[in-house]
Amino acid sequence: MDQFENELKELRIVLSDVQKQQFEEYYKLLVEWNEVMNLTAITDYKDVMKKHFFDSLTVVRAYPEILTEAVSVIDIGTGAGFPGIPLKIAFPQIRLTLLDSLQKRLKFLQEVSDKLELGEIQMLHGRAEDYAKQPEFREHFDLCVSRAVANLSTLSELCLPYVKENGKFIPYKAEKAEAEIEAAQKAVDLLGGEISDKIEFQLPGGDMGRTLVVIDKIKKTPKKYPRKAGTPAKMPIV
Ligand code: SAM
Repeated sequence: MDQFENELKELRIVLSDVQKQQFEEYYKLLVEWNEVMNLTAITDYKDVMKKHFFDSLTVVRAYPEILTEAVSVIDIGTGAGFPGIPLKIAFPQIRLTLLDSLQKRLKFLQEVSDKLELGEIQMLHGRAEDYAKQPEFREHFDLCVSRAVANLSTLSELCLPYVKENGKFIPYKAEKAEAEIEAAQKAVDLLGGEISDKIEFQLPGGDMGRTLVVIDKIKKTPKKYPRKAGTPAKMPIV
């Protein structure tokens, strides 16, 4: 925990004792539940702190408002809660929605939320393509984040419909995302987005590169998107 806490200084994040306990408890639950369901391949304490917890929090580099403002955030394909849960622990004032198509992962996340007493978190079970058609979710969020769910073209179709005009979609990508960004350019334009920045950095230790792509929502997403569930992955916009 000391190392994690120390490394967070780089992101200007200072944790209270309660928040440190919440991260510890989250780690414990993750490893416990991972014995009976497939949540993560990473289970070593230091690795989880860095590759899941720290990595999730790096979005402050692209979206510093999240440090203090009560923004609405949706995490598409959250899985075991990344990046959404670390964001809620570190920035409890955000209004968080977690979406995943796997019910058992949401059951785990409900347990995490209850045990850590994280307050209200909206949990949506289903496909991103389906919820995006519902008026209460469409063009509704200040920020949409997503990590390790799909290539950027497909992901833009899943995520941009949720973002309100002037909001942002920030996918977490590995290093050297240039070709993927290039291939997604048409989809981003078509869906009402504009790539405004690409922030590249290394995780602590310098052995793992990351790219945050910053996509501004500059106009509404045309009604026909997203296409029906499965199509964005099968036939990405090119
Ligand atoms: N974001 C987490 C992370 O970085 O560890 C989980 C990544 S996991 C590889 C991908 C997750 O996305 C899975 O939990 C899967 O159920 C979910 N997913 C994939 N496509 C989806 C869709 N169209 N709608 C909702 N969830 C989806």
